[in-house]
Amino acid sequence: LNIITAPNDVLTMVCYTPQSLNINFLAEMFALMDQHKGLGLAAPQVGLPARFFITSWGEVFVDPEIIPIEEYGKVVVPEGCLSIPGETYEVERWRVVEVNGKRYGDVAAIVIQHEADHLDGILISEKGKLCQSTTPKS
Ligand SMILES: [Zn+2]
Repeated sequence: LNIITAPNDVLTMVCYTPQSLNINFLAEMFALMDQHKGLGLAAPQVGLPARFFITSWGEVFVDPEIIPIEEYGKVVVPEGCLSIPGETYEVERWRVVEVNGKRYGDVAAIVIQHEADHLDGILISEKGKLCQSTTPKS
């Protein structure tokens, strides 16, 4: 597998819901994410327009429903993206989100929202503001 970088149609399409996941494909994605020191990696970033992503803490999210916990408000943080090398964007995110009844905050919440955007074909270059600093990528 290779990381697909923008511009590429697979990064801007709304992905389909997968019927099943291939364990070997997932293992290759984890290896690729680790190799690039990513915090997360979504299937379209490796050329597969399917609704799933992996995270650096080892969870696999399949067609997740992201529920914002609005009482915690929003944050604006600089984000990088493995599919947009060398650029950092300030993006507004919910501070806390819930997925499958489990709550995630801080970096995990941001990674989940970033990767979930990939499943809808949304890149940080579209919803964020270009800035200068460097930051971990997902
Ligand atoms: Zn990304």
